[in-house]
Amino acid sequence: MSAKLIKGTEIREQILEEITAEVAKIKEDHGKVPGLVTILVGENPASISYVTLKIKTAHRVGFNEIQDTQPIDISEDDLLALIDKYNKDDSINGILVQLPLPKHIDDKKILNAIDPDKDVDGFHPVNVGRLMIGGDEVKFPPCTPAGIQEMIVRAGVETSGAEVVVVGRSNIVGKPIANMMVQKGKGANSTVTIVHTRTKDLAAHCKRADILIVAAGVPELVKPEWIKPGACVIDVGVNRVGEKISEKTGKKVAVLRGDVDFEKAKEIAGYITPVPGGVGPMTITMLMLNTLKSLKFKLGIE
Ligand code: NAD
Repeated sequence: MSAKLIKGTEIREQILEEITAEVAKIKEDHGKVPGLVTILVGENPASISYVTLKIKTAHRVGFNEIQDTQPIDISEDDLLALIDKYNKDDSINGILVQLPLPKHIDDKKILNAIDPDKDVDGFHPVNVGRLMIGGDEVKFPPCTPAGIQEMIVRAGVETSGAEVVVVGRSNIVGKPIANMMVQKGKGANSTVTIVHTRTKDLAAHCKRADILIVAAGVPELVKPEWIKPGACVIDVGVNRVGEKISEKTGKKVAVLRGDVDFEKAKEIAGYITPVPGGVGPMTITMLMLNTLKSLKFKLGIE
C-alpha cells in the first residue's frame, strides 16, 4: 500500500476531545453549555439509531441534549409550533429534525421553519446562501462537506491551486463541497470541477484531479486507472453490497463498499479514505462543532 490512510475515526476522536475541552472552558467562563435538541417523529429504527448516536455524542462532549420524540400522527401545525418553541428557547443552540418525516408533513416547510441561527445541519436556504457568499458570512457549513474539508486539511494536503474534481451534484454533498473548495481561505482556493450522470467523459475528468471527492452512491464507480498517481481520494459513498456475521458481536451486519475500488486505488493514490471509517464518522462530529459554534456566536466569542 502506498497511500496514506485518512481515518475519520481518528480525526473524530481528536475533534471531540477539542470540543469537550472548549465546552468546559466556556462553562467556566460564561456558565453556559451548548444545547442541542433532536426532534424525532415516529419510530423508524434507522432514524432512532441516528438520533441515539447524535444524542450520545452530544452527551459525551458535555452538551445539554434533548431528544424530543413525537407520535407519527403529529400534525404539521403542531410540529411547526414545537419548532417555534425551540426557536424561542434561549438554552437551545441547535435544532435537528430527523428525516424522513411522515408523508402528511411537508419536510421543506418544517426545515425552513428552523431559526437559521440554530440550523446546525446547515440546510436552511439562508445558510446555503451564506455558504455561497463564503468567508465570514458562513455560520454552519453542512456537516458532511465540512467533515471532508476538515479531513483534507488535517491530512496536510495542499488545496491552494489544486485541481479538485467532485463526482456528484447533490445538495447535501456534491454542490456544497464544490462551493467550499472554490472559496478563498484555508483548505480551499482550489480549481473545482463537478461531474455527474450527464458528464461526457467521467474518467478524463477524474484523471486530472489532485483531490478527487466521490459522492455518487455507486459501488466502486471510480476505477483505479482514473486516479492520478499521488492524488488525494475522498470516498463519500456508503453502499450496502451484502451482509456478513460480525466477528465482534456474532450478529448480522451490512457489508459496506465505497464509490472507489479501494484495494486497487490505495496502490496509486497518495491519500485515501476507507469505507467504513472514513468520511462517515465526520458528519456527527461536525454537527457537534456547529452546535458549539452556535453558542459561541450567541456569546460573541466566535
Ligand atoms: P445523491 O443520490 O443525492 O446524489 C448522487 C450524485 O451522484 C448525483 O448528483 C448524480 O448525478 C451523481 N451520480 C450518480 N451516479 C453517477 C454516475 N454513474 N456517474 C456520475 N455521476 C453519478 O447522493 P448523496 O446524498 O450525495 O450521497 C452520495 C453517497 O454518499 C451515497 O452513497 C451516500 O450514502 C453517501 N453519503 C455519506 C455520508 C457520510 O458518510 N456521512 C453523508 C452523505 C452521503
